[in-house]
Amino acid sequence: MSDFKTGTKCVQAGYRPGNGEPRQIPIVQSTTFKYDTSEDMGKLFDLEASGYFYTRLQNPTNDYVAAKLAELEGGTAAMLTSSGQAANFFAIFNICETGGHIVSSSSIYGGTFNLIAVTMAKMGIDVTFVSPDATEEELNAAFQDNTKAVFGETIANPALTVLDIELFARVAHEHGVPLIIDNTFPTPVNCRPIEWGADIVTHSTTKYIDGHGTSVGGAIIDSGKFDWMAHKDKYPGLTTPDESYHGITYAEKFGLEGAFITKCTAQLMRDFGCIQSPQHAFYINLGLESLHVRMPKHVENGQKVAEYLTAHDKIEVVHYSGLPTDKYYERAQKYLPNGGCGVVSFEIKGGRAAAESFMKKLKLVAIETHVADARSCCLNPATSTHRQLTDKQLEDAGIPAGLVRMSCGLEDAEDLIADLKQALED
Ligand SMILES: *Cc1c(COP(=O)(O)O)cnc(C)c1O
Repeated sequence: MSDFKTGTKCVQAGYRPGNGEPRQIPIVQSTTFKYDTSEDMGKLFDLEASGYFYTRLQNPTNDYVAAKLAELEGGTAAMLTSSGQAANFFAIFNICETGGHIVSSSSIYGGTFNLIAVTMAKMGIDVTFVSPDATEEELNAAFQDNTKAVFGETIANPALTVLDIELFARVAHEHGVPLIIDNTFPTPVNCRPIEWGADIVTHSTTKYIDGHGTSVGGAIIDSGKFDWMAHKDKYPGLTTPDESYHGITYAEKFGLEGAFITKCTAQLMRDFGCIQSPQHAFYINLGLESLHVRMPKHVENGQKVAEYLTAHDKIEVVHYSGLPTDKYYERAQKYLPNGGCGVVSFEIKGGRAAAESFMKKLKLVAIETHVADARSCCLNPATSTHRQLTDKQLEDAGIPAGLVRMSCGLEDAEDLIADLKQALED
């Protein structure tokens, strides 16, 4: 299906039923698979044949959905994980072990920041954070001899910064390491990072891909472009024999296109078991089938809400890369020509108290710790996710007390704006 356009892939890629087979992807609700001989099964355990033996490692339903995501992102292989957190952890840990180091944009999802800065640090993996707006010189200065990967988000949650993917990819490649991009907010409908040089793409499918707030999930997609063998000493996990699989070498046996995902499945999924359930993979696929229809509506609503708020005298500032006044407008024109997503953030004059009273008055837009689903919602970090911080600490972290993050859903923009308008009245 690789010649088809994005919308067609959203609907039909990944699963092509044969004559008389189910039209919709079957949910293979089975933990295990039956074989006629032990030899048959032995070949699977040795990675000598491909097939299924235990759903913790692989399941056909998950693989249909992963294959669709690989086609959508322009990659060669993909896998689903139980959450976006698991996807980012696996994507990094698959190539960076104790004693390694990564370079990461500082403007990333809070959960990922914690994963990298706290939990992976305990595993002996160091990080150097760089600004998403770092210059080439600043990026170069962040690398060390033991650097194994560069990480960033296309549009960061919640800061809404837009990453210069081409620059980050070029510098990563000059240092012989891959660029991993979390593409959760734009989805492959609005940006395909591999086309700009990214090597590995990750997703929290929990957000727009599911799109209906039903299923937590993640995905990892490999571009198949990074040449592990050309950097043999840096990635021994891929370029030297794996004794836990009778000495196979992933990069030799599975080539550029398959080595990363095969190793990630065979080792990390085997040992950590953060597998997506086939039932949830099915829901995620339902989301994917309409993703290309929903994303333009999220963007349209985000744009209209951002424009309305910009003109409102009770609003201090609005962050949305579709606004010509936004710091990231130019970069968004390049990477996100059809718009980014439906998440808008804005600062209400009057700080914490004003934000609190505004949110209390909202009728349609609900207060939730969530973004990117069909129903609009909002959050004031100062009184929720970041409530342990003082106003001064919030200011230093770039999250003023009056900041509200709003995720514009699929309702009519007029109704969303009317709700905001009444909530902003005295
Ligand atoms: C939500 C989110 C994650 C974490 O995903 P979960 O599915 O909640 O584990 C990672 N990255 C980004 C950009 C996110 O928005």
